[in-house]
Amino acid sequence: MSKEELLSIIPCHRRPERSLKIKGKPMALCARCTAIYGSYLLLPFLYFVPQVHNLLFALLLQLPMLIDGFTQKWKWRESNNTLRVITGLLSGIGQCMMIWYAANLLKQLLS
Ligand SMILES: [Zn+2]
Repeated sequence: MSKEELLSIIPCHRRPERSLKIKGKPMALCARCTAIYGSYLLLPFLYFVPQVHNLLFALLLQLPMLIDGFTQKWKWRESNNTLRVITGLLSGIGQCMMIWYAANLLKQLLS
């Protein structure tokens, strides 16, 4: 599977104007998706963070991205790549926390 085929299965609108650029070339994913998927690299390290088991906090970390995304979608305002990266990172960390939460729940159910 080529890099292009692999990236094509990742859901993202891939708009160049909403993507981070390296040497003037837009990245394959938008700024928000790059931050979300990049934050997944933190998943192993969240094991050492006690707040990781707080599902409410994980859900709250989704709010900035949802507000940024929907207010832009509804044409109330235009976001920018800095905001997309920040809200994407928060969302991705929250998603990692949800994964830890679900894994721990599964572990408890199976033991
Ligand atoms: Zn995207």
